[in-house]
Order: sequence, then structure tokens, then C-alpha cells
Amino acid sequence: MHKKKIIEKDKQILFRSWQKSQLIKNKAVLQAFQSVNRELFVDPSYLDLSYSDQPLPIGSGQTISQPTTVAIMLQLLNVLPEHRILEVGTGSGYNAALLANLGELVVTVERHNELFTLARKNLLSAGLVNVKVVEGDGKLGYSSLAPFDRIIITAATEDVPKNLKDQLTVGGLLVAPIGPTYGCEMQKMVKVSLNDFQVSLHGLFSFVPLI
Ligand code: SAH
Repeated sequence: MHKKKIIEKDKQILFRSWQKSQLIKNKAVLQAFQSVNRELFVDPSYLDLSYSDQPLPIGSGQTISQPTTVAIMLQLLNVLPEHRILEVGTGSGYNAALLANLGELVVTVERHNELFTLARKNLLSAGLVNVKVVEGDGKLGYSSLAPFDRIIITAATEDVPKNLKDQLTVGGLLVAPIGPTYGCEMQKMVKVSLNDFQVSLHGLFSFVPLI
């Protein structure tokens, strides 16, 4: 079978497993997953593993997250078409591409110069224009385009940086893995008023650290 066909077949196997287990039910998330080709975001040496459900190295000691983890986070984030979204930890740009399919504008921040460059290239090849890739420290957020309706941190952190809390709209929602690299807990935080967050817990994961 042609390589492209095998990759597409793997994609549909993963898609059906989410539907069958009902782990991912959000229609917009399922649609975004279908629209974005993960193979554009994985290192060419791992092309065959594009839809094997695992994280993969992308250089600079970082990884593109496991597809199921990405989908779980996006489902928790509940992005609506009119939303402005901030992502901390661009990595390959894959999650940013999915977010770009879900919302109106995505700002994504990456601290590694090589990954910033790689993500820009990947997003361009995926034809996405509503994503702004920023090189810098995501802990600072991105004040010139704040506030954001949704914020997602794709690296493990002991706590949510204050700048990010401040740059979230009241009524907005933030998803982040909180805790150590191995065994961080997925948390969803709803900003119910200027200084109050309602937190819910959504299982244990592994993530590279927010530095
Ligand atoms: N969302 C990515 C995977 C994230 S891996 C994808 O879809 O491929 C986590 C990323 O967070 C890494 O690229 C790492 O370099 C980045 N990172 C860690 N600390 C950061 C910080 N303070 N600011 C911005 N990016 C950071």
C-alpha cells in the first residue's frame, strides 16, 4: 500500500477508537482532527508513526504530544468559533493548527528558536493563516493581543503564571497539566470573576516541563 494511504488508514483507526470509546465526543474537535494532517507536524524520520498514539521527538529535547492527550485537552477547552486563544508551548505547531480550526485567532508562544521556526514553517505548509507564532516566554502571555477567551498550556507547570490568569477573560477557561513532568494532573479552570477560578480535575498525564 502507498505510504500516504497507510497514514490515512492509521488516522481513521485512531478516529474510530475515540468514537467507539466515546472518549472524544465533541464534534468540533473530531472535525478539526480530520482537517489537520499530523504528518505535516512530525519529524520526517517518524512519518510512519504519524498516527501511532504516542508523543514523538521534534528536536530541542521536546515532543509533539500524544494525539489522544491533545484531543482530551481540546475537548476540555471547548473552543467556540468566535474565540481568541492563547497557547503556551507551540512545539511542532500541531495543537495550534487544531486550535486554528476551532477558533477565530490563535496566538502561540514558544521559547526555543528552532521550534518557533519549525512551527511557523509547519503551519504555513498546513495553509493556516489565523495563527500568530511568537518566540518568547509563554509565562508572560501576550499582552498586546489579550484578553483571551481560552488559554491552553501544553507543558507541565506547578502553578499557572499570574500573567496568564490576568490575560483570561472573565467567563474564560484555561486548561493545563499541573504538577511534575510525570504524573501532572490535567486541570480545567473557569475564571468565574476577576480573582476567582473554579477548578476541576481530569486525570494524570506526562508532559515536558514549562521552563
Ligand atoms: N503543543 C505542542 C507540544 C508541546 S511540547 C505540539 O502540538 O507539538 C511543550 C513545548 O513548550 C515545548 O516546545 C517547549 O519548548 C515549550 N515551552 C516550555 N516552556 C516554555 C515557556 N516558558 N514559554 C514558551 N514555550 C515553552
